[in-house]
Amino acid sequence: MSYLVLARKYRPRRFEDMVGQEVVTGVLRGAIEDDRVGHAYLFAGPRGTGKTTTARILAKALNCVKGPTPDPCGECERCLASDEGAEFDVIEIDAASNTSVNDVRELRESVGYAPVDSRYKVYIVDEVHMLSRAAFNALLKTLEEPPSHVKFLFATTELHKVPDTILSRCQVMRLSPIREEQIAGRLATVFDAEGVTAADGVAAELARRARGGMRDALSLADQLLALAGNSPQLADLARLSGGAGLQELLGLVDALGAGDRAAALDAVAAWAGREGELAGALLDVVRSIVVAGVCGAGSPHLEGGPAAGEALLARAKALGRGRLELMLADLIRARERMRHLAGSERVVLESALLELCTLEATMSLAELEARLASLEARLGGASVAGHTAGPASGGQLPVSIQPTPPPVGASATRSVQQPTGPATGPATAPGAAPRSPDTPQPAPGPAAAPALEPWKALVGALDARHRTLADLLRRSGKLQGSGSMARILVSKASADEQALLADKRSRRACERALSGAMGREITVEFVVGDAATPPPPKVEQDPFTRQVADLFDGHIEEP
Ligand SMILES: [Zn+2]
Repeated sequence: MSYLVLARKYRPRRFEDMVGQEVVTGVLRGAIEDDRVGHAYLFAGPRGTGKTTTARILAKALNCVKGPTPDPCGECERCLASDEGAEFDVIEIDAASNTSVNDVRELRESVGYAPVDSRYKVYIVDEVHMLSRAAFNALLKTLEEPPSHVKFLFATTELHKVPDTILSRCQVMRLSPIREEQIAGRLATVFDAEGVTAADGVAAELARRARGGMRDALSLADQLLALAGNSPQLADLARLSGGAGLQELLGLVDALGAGDRAAALDAVAAWAGREGELAGALLDVVRSIVVAGVCGAGSPHLEGGPAAGEALLARAKALGRGRLELMLADLIRARERMRHLAGSERVVLESALLELCTLEATMSLAELEARLASLEARLGGASVAGHTAGPASGGQLPVSIQPTPPPVGASATRSVQQPTGPATGPATAPGAAPRSPDTPQPAPGPAAAPALEPWKALVGALDARHRTLADLLRRSGKLQGSGSMARILVSKASADEQALLADKRSRRACERALSGAMGREITVEFVVGDAATPPPPKVEQDPFTRQVADLFDGHIEEP
């Protein structure tokens, strides 16, 4: 006995079997009952939501011997032929592979002939947006004056690519992504019918991964049953391709939150070739975290049960709204970039995730004050003096008392990031001093005297949300200050770390922390001294380009 995939076996054959598209099926049923079915419909919606299925059911309803009827009998010759996909007068065309004018010309000629067995000749054109401009024009002539025995049913995932001239001659039906609980409900029915005993939560998790597409949900179920037999457990889902488990995604979100760049790159590597899916799944889970933060763990807008709700809410609290919103925006941008840079999805996603690792949290003033207060409390007891004083945390802080000598390899020192803030400092041009060893160091300004405390405050403040940056500064950073200008000298930085320093958000985080500690606006400039690295050409000054270039040096492996 040949195995029929679930998506085909359980494909709806009547309007009432359609899940989650009540509006569309209601409109079509009404039109059939009232005998006012239009001559052209365009079904638009995401993949797997039932566009061609709806078209086929409509064709069957129009041609059923007992019809036209909103409830085709399913028993007559026409219905049976239709169910088997053997209906001579229902012509299915995949526009993706028939894009030319000639294809449309053939179609136009065949439109002229009356149906052989049926009431109507029905053309179902899938992915209609793929037709060429010329093909659309040719089609238009037929759409303007269609013979009364012809119906056109178009389907598209990209409505915006269909010309207005076509749209204006169709009734547009929008199919929405199917709600997760509806997909889960349908899966439960299918499991019952198949004699499958799935563990609690399996249907819900499959539904979550399918992201609104019933066909995807059933395909995933097929894979799961092939893998795990007739009693799949939640753990079996971990072995399933085609979608990340919620736990895996939450783990990645945690890694991004902690600035764990290696874990972020590992995740992308594990999804090689499916970067778009990972980006989409990650976007979904961040969105769910935002929803949990706004509506609570028990929100009906969340799927996956109370445990999932609590896990999402915990992330919402840990990451904070500002940071989550930045994550959402960055991920959406990354997805757009991935679409435009086909073939470079991996590097785009890696770059985006690395950026998310360094995301600056939007700290409120209250948060900042609380942070500083706790820092003061921690430092208050220990009297710190000179280089030998260890910080309360036990780590060794490289502190610098003014004036600081130029870093090793100063002749090759380059400015990674020019400050863009207002130059309210003294006459010394930002970045001028380290470029040439002959230029005198700026005179110790008001910031010089308390250089020790601001440094501790800076590194301490960065610890919470910019761990990588804090570690880098603690390891090889020094602070120079004069007036409202602070210069952070980094004696040694890897390519990755230089990219981190080049990110304006790193600079802003330092500026915010220092300004808070000093009680006035401070502009920060990073200066990296690394004699081994020649100054980069101008084009690399763009942080994105630099990051990509660094990636190629450091991490990219060609598949
Ligand atoms: Zn029938």
